[in-house]
Amino acid sequence: MPAKNKILVTGGAGFIGSHLVDRLLERGNEVLVFDNLSSGDLKFIEHPLENPDFTLVEGDLLDPEAIERVCKGVDFVFHVAANPDVKLGASDTRVHFDQNILATYNLLEAMRRQGVGKLAFTSTSTVYGEAKVMPTPEGYGPLIPISLYGASKLACEALITSYAHTFDMQAWIFRFANIVGPRSTHGITVDFIRKLRETPEKLEILGDGKQEKSYLHISECVESILFTIEKSEEEVNIFNIGSEDTISATRIGEIVVEEMGLSNVEFTYTGGSRGWKGDVPRMRLGIEKLKGMGWEPGYTSERSVRETARSLLDGK
Ligand code: NAD
Repeated sequence: MPAKNKILVTGGAGFIGSHLVDRLLERGNEVLVFDNLSSGDLKFIEHPLENPDFTLVEGDLLDPEAIERVCKGVDFVFHVAANPDVKLGASDTRVHFDQNILATYNLLEAMRRQGVGKLAFTSTSTVYGEAKVMPTPEGYGPLIPISLYGASKLACEALITSYAHTFDMQAWIFRFANIVGPRSTHGITVDFIRKLRETPEKLEILGDGKQEKSYLHISECVESILFTIEKSEEEVNIFNIGSEDTISATRIGEIVVEEMGLSNVEFTYTGGSRGWKGDVPRMRLGIEKLKGMGWEPGYTSERSVRETARSLLDGK
């Protein structure tokens, strides 16, 4: 990206979005956040409020006129806003359709009308479903998601690639492993800390605890995204973003227990190989494509989780 772009970040008040905003401002860009604050938090974007290059627009992607107004004069869009709660799809079948698919359609339409030609999208490993190849490369198929969340993200990817082709846009699709770090508001580390604060003598783990997944620290996630965007020139650029190893749910429990300074904690398991309907028990993404561009992760899953537990316990 050339210096000083006007960049729109949807969902910029959330966990991943707010870290991205910090880095984009550090690089000298003008940044506009569009967020309805449904799961985002004003305190994540309080510090740049005085920065003349930063603007916060409180608005909803389900309001097509509001999103079109903020697309005016924008050079690049990071579409980060979504409902990221995978479990929710089992009890509310509408939420991911609206917040992910319809919201993305509204954004793409606003971009098309306003002539905004570049978009990066935060997708997910869940589009692969229960992949038979591990580490799973970007070219793996067929893509058979097993959660409504995964299905909605795959639908978003399809909308984005077809808009890119039809309306001469350029798109980056980033399929994330589990991203963790300061400002995390959901996920296993957050859940374990909450549970152990309530009952420090026992920890209930969903499933059998043997789920093995890849975790990546937010600092590395943001760096790899920005690095990749600068280096890739295809109309559609799809990249897995993750670490090169996995960690089990039980091991994450042990790390959180250690970081909280607890001992003699009894682990109990709800049973079954997955934590909930739609949970993919084994996930590791192939990152050869990312490495081929010259970017290597410095963190293991364990280090990412441990540093996250530490920063969350420090109130960060
Ligand atoms: P988050 O909930 O912290 O961030 C989502 C942001 O979007 C919030 O600030 C929320 O208020 C905003 N938002 C939601 N619906 C909106 C709407 N209709 N209009 C405007 N704003 C809206 O979640 P996160 O963990 O930071 O996830 C960010 C993105 O990364 C999501 O697209 C998610 O699907 C994707 N992702 C996250 C992970 C992860 O491990 N955290 C993994 C894979 C993919």
